[in-house]
Amino acid sequence: IKHIGIFTSGGDSPGMNAALHGAAKAALANGMRISGVSRGYEGMIDGDFISLNEKDLQRTVHKGGTILKTARSDRFRKEEGRKAALKNLEKKGIDALIAIGGDGTFRGMLAFSELCTLPFIGIPGTIDNDLAGTDYTLGFDTAVNTAIENIDKIRDTAESHNRVFLVEVMGRDSGYIAIHSGLGTGADGILIPESSEDFNRLLEKIRHYHSQEELIVIVSEGDELGVGPVASKIREVNPSVDLRISILGHVQRGGHPSAFDRMLGIRLGVASVKALLEGQKNVMAGIVNNSLTLTPFEKVVKQHQVDAELQELLTLFYLK
Ligand code: ATP
Repeated sequence: IKHIGIFTSGGDSPGMNAALHGAAKAALANGMRISGVSRGYEGMIDGDFISLNEKDLQRTVHKGGTILKTARSDRFRKEEGRKAALKNLEKKGIDALIAIGGDGTFRGMLAFSELCTLPFIGIPGTIDNDLAGTDYTLGFDTAVNTAIENIDKIRDTAESHNRVFLVEVMGRDSGYIAIHSGLGTGADGILIPESSEDFNRLLEKIRHYHSQEELIVIVSEGDELGVGPVASKIREVNPSVDLRISILGHVQRGGHPSAFDRMLGIRLGVASVKALLEGQKNVMAGIVNNSLTLTPFEKVVKQHQVDAELQELLTLFYLK
């Protein structure tokens, strides 16, 4: 391999720039060139390449988002788009690709590999932490820290007024952000897509609530009820509740990556180049039990269920 192309795709997440730095460092140290592709598959189709300067990358490790920009691409879903992308890679002399993204991005690579024999390596980049093949995805730790910081602030004001707050956090169909940020802030309830039991218990608590203290309930965005209907139900069982809703939203996606995400990005960036050197293809680099692992793209499916230990914690804190 002489020339690696690297890109970010799908949703952005803090730590992506650190992964770029790790990969560039490892590529250059092994005598390879590395170029960035702007805006994921969209930029690949448009032939939008960015030369990566190792010194510049060193100075963006601390930055959230992705300096390469990211996008979703409908054109890449069609063979015509993938053919155009391949032509541009060939013109540029790129003979291997590293993608930082989610399972959709890796499915795209599998579709691409039907057209060509280039080796593809993936790095899990999503704040949702919902991918099989790694204990942590890039950006999850930062997102949880951001959520915690904001929920602590909400508690201050909730406490001053004895209010009930519903705080919606991100995570799509996975409750990882909700559980981590809820337990980490001493929340009074956590509603996640994986379990609806908690809601009835929470309603019981609300029914007997006499505004003697504040109450914080974390609602995962993927919770089947959703924050609006949860609020209506609460008002129904106890109309005297002074209820507020706070949707944390995209602040959870941005911000400087945490120390953990910076290191995770660097480790996975280096690991992806190492995987290419070992002749690997169509695998995602991940961290399992703090060791680097490679998982075939076919097995990197969305993992909706939070792991058993977290479920146990939820039961202990909210259902006992
Ligand atoms: P996130 O977890 O942030 O959503 P993702 O990588 O899962 O990230 P997607 O939008 O699902 O995000 O996928 C990224 C891009 O990968 C898509 O916009 C599309 O261009 C490409 N892609 C996904 N699935 C396929 C497929 N089956 N065939 C071809 N391309 C695909």
